[in-house]
Amino acid sequence: MTEPAIELNGISKSFGPVEANKDISIRVMPGTIHGIIGENGAGKSTLMSILFGFYKADRGEIFIHGQKTEIPDSQAAIAAGIGMVFQHFKLVENFTVLENVILGAEDGGLLRPSLAKARKTLKELAEEYELHVDPDALIQDIGVGRQQRVEILKALYRKADILILDEPTGVLTPAEADQLFRILGRLREEGKTILLITHKLREIMEITDTVSVMRRGQMTATVKTAETSPEHLAELMVGRKVLLRVDKKPAEPKDTVLEVQDLRVRDGKGVERLKGVSLTLRAGEILGIAGVSGNGQSELLEVLGGMQTGTGHVRVNGQEIDLTGRFSDGQSRRARGIAHVPEDRQREGLIMEFSAWENTVFGYHRDPAFQRGPFMDNAKIIEDAKGKIERFDVRPPDPKLTAKNFSGGNQQKLVLAREMERNPDLLLIGQPTRGVDIGAIEFIHQQIIALRDAGKAILLVSVELEEILSLSDRIAVMFDGQIMGERLPDRTDEKELGMMMAGMSTNDTDGAVA
Ligand code: ADP
Ligand code: MG
Repeated sequence: MTEPAIELNGISKSFGPVEANKDISIRVMPGTIHGIIGENGAGKSTLMSILFGFYKADRGEIFIHGQKTEIPDSQAAIAAGIGMVFQHFKLVENFTVLENVILGAEDGGLLRPSLAKARKTLKELAEEYELHVDPDALIQDIGVGRQQRVEILKALYRKADILILDEPTGVLTPAEADQLFRILGRLREEGKTILLITHKLREIMEITDTVSVMRRGQMTATVKTAETSPEHLAELMVGRKVLLRVDKKPAEPKDTVLEVQDLRVRDGKGVERLKGVSLTLRAGEILGIAGVSGNGQSELLEVLGGMQTGTGHVRVNGQEIDLTGRFSDGQSRRARGIAHVPEDRQREGLIMEFSAWENTVFGYHRDPAFQRGPFMDNAKIIEDAKGKIERFDVRPPDPKLTAKNFSGGNQQKLVLAREMERNPDLLLIGQPTRGVDIGAIEFIHQQIIALRDAGKAILLVSVELEEILSLSDRIAVMFDGQIMGERLPDRTDEKELGMMMAGMSTNDTDGAVA
């Protein structure tokens, strides 16, 4: 009988009072792709960090190919044949691909002979695993998909036969993710063992052989992928049944609420980030903006939300909005019926040192409803905050707790409660479920649909294509500061949107919005 490539036995790890890993045991057979899925904070990255020697477990044993192995640091992990592909690549930007691959693995510190040898090895690896990258290209000149391949090559060059990938597709377009999965498939064929950490059920279903579910530091189940379903995995992750599909009626768009014409934004360095964006949005409609992050979506939300200046024309309910920043800011935008859930809630959506109740009125604290004479009516605001906390299921339900002490998902609910309950005409919403658990995602999606059905106009920016496809009534794809085109969700698919997100025009006009 073959030994497991990886066997973890009773691994536990605490950070102060937080038990990140509680008595975890798994066995992963060689030549398989094993998925690890779980909500944010479930303990996945901690477990992988223990396996790669970044953290030392408080208790437990590691066996690699049947051998009990101590992994005090990443050198030991590499020596044991374990490679890790980081979420934030650790590559040197102004070095070539080749130099990055051998960095830290040079023969006796001699670069030149190492380079020649590495070039040959790289060519072989590229052919064996379809991992093609130009060895002489500078890292800064290649896209993230290729940078990720360099990380994989780096691990293979160090003779890894176990590869750990922690949320590898977060930065990729769907086409790049497909390519990555093909590469992982090739690695499996060659007998490599792969641990794939993801919170995306679809990826688990598509590529893994077996999957373990983590919840609150524990490994709650390990199942064969072929014998499970997304619904079942979601239930194991959350601990209750979850509705994975968004339930919604067709939109009934009314009057135009938002008109954007030739909107342009330059960043601090004078680089144009929005290059002439035009769009319209009607009441009772959700316009989803799809795109790989960094293609101008953030600037679009910021300029519309009054946090960034720009040129062009923006009209809300027929009234021109000032884009110069001289006459209008976030506050006066709110007075015009525009609510904004910023992408980066920690930096822009909340004041982390302030309490939850204070955060539930930011931007609206001058509202007469919250004033008593010249002062803020704190008792009233706290009462109001309690209602918001209850309706949005913020946990723990304590309005006096400081914002920074809530988890990411609950912070998001605080911002959503504040912005959505203002009953805005126009809701700008960025990455509504980033870092949010699937149970809360279900709730947030229902709230967004309810607001649409109440006749509000919603501009949704998300890098999650599934979210865009399931919520939007129309989809616009952004690439390099421009709108590549618009599609109707039921007449397009991830493949077509993915191509547009990569800047390729799809000549196929079927599904285009006239
Ligand atoms: P996941 O990768 O599943 O999202 P993590 O392993 O990153 O989860 O985190 C598990 C828990 O451990 C979380 O509550 C997190 O806040 C905590 N944690 C992780 N790393 C540290 C650390 N270096 N110091 C303190 N707490 C940590
Ligand atoms: Mg993690």
